[in-house]
Amino acid sequence: MAEILTASEADIVRAGTLLREGDLVAVPTETVYGLAANAFCEASVRRIFSAKGRPFIDPLIVHVHSLAQAETLADISHPFVKKLAEAFLPGPLTLILPKKECVPAIVTAGEPTVAVRMPAHPLMRRVLLSAGVPLAAPSANPFGYVSPTTAQHVQDSLGERISWILDGGACACGVESTIVLVADKPRLLRPGVITREDLERVLGVPVEAEKGHLEKIADGEKSSDSAQLAPGMLKKHYSPRVPVRLFENGALPEIPEKAAIVFQTRPRGELARRYAGHAQVFWLSENGAQEEVARSVFALLRRLDNAAFSSIFIEKSPEKGIGVAVNDRLSRAAAK
Ligand code: AMP
Ligand code: MG
Repeated sequence: MAEILTASEADIVRAGTLLREGDLVAVPTETVYGLAANAFCEASVRRIFSAKGRPFIDPLIVHVHSLAQAETLADISHPFVKKLAEAFLPGPLTLILPKKECVPAIVTAGEPTVAVRMPAHPLMRRVLLSAGVPLAAPSANPFGYVSPTTAQHVQDSLGERISWILDGGACACGVESTIVLVADKPRLLRPGVITREDLERVLGVPVEAEKGHLEKIADGEKSSDSAQLAPGMLKKHYSPRVPVRLFENGALPEIPEKAAIVFQTRPRGELARRYAGHAQVFWLSENGAQEEVARSVFALLRRLDNAAFSSIFIEKSPEKGIGVAVNDRLSRAAAK
């Protein structure tokens, strides 16, 4: 079991010291819980990969407290950086930028770019200040499993492998950060609660979606030393052990007897009557608000994964706004 740290000043100072000196600490952010290490310390970063069982070809996001700290790691001179920072930072947005030499290759999987994020969570910001070094932090879960949105989730799946978890309550966004490749033609590499429309409004240019790093490797569009990869490992992600099946928004599929069914919205009227008394009916939100759906999706997947259902049937989000990010995570959870 990992020891739980709190928001007290003494615990924040302790977390900062542990991190600076090379230990791993699981930390809350507004997206999901991260497993943090001093980004400048190769040996510590290596421990992140081994605790998660994460392949070294999957680069990490580096968390910073300020743009000034970002500049120690990356070239932030592209005019889009300023625009995005003014509109969204600190917040759930990761920028892919040209890296500086001080960033160890293990952090970026050998890429010439580095993923930089300035989180908004007040505890994470205090930890960053206390540590005084940038923190490399992927989600605090075993590679491929459902991301953690509470300290208990981290304890459940990594508690035997790490020593420290800082408890900052439930995460406000619930899905990982939006990732943008900063370039004259910017690209959306991962959808999140900051949407493509939000980015286009601020940048004033189209932001096309592009496959993420692992997907390019899985599709053979990028080379890598993939000796450590099992088939299907890269496309399947955020996955419970129990099989996940998706159905279209508004559809009503036949559900096998031992399956759980998850609606976007609490069933009402005809739907509620149809499912009255079914212990296996769940929903992601009261009224379909996609902020709430995003916030609850991983927690519900974890809960249902521990509840002896034969499979989990989930209604997709409408494919717009934040729903795009939710559907992205759902389709990876359902990938075989
Ligand atoms: P996470 O697993 O949530 O920490 O997110 C890490 C993801 O960020 C990786 O799986 C990549 O998709 C993306 N990423 C990190 N660094 C880079 C990079 N230098 N270039 C492209 N994508 C990156
Ligand atoms: Mg992750």
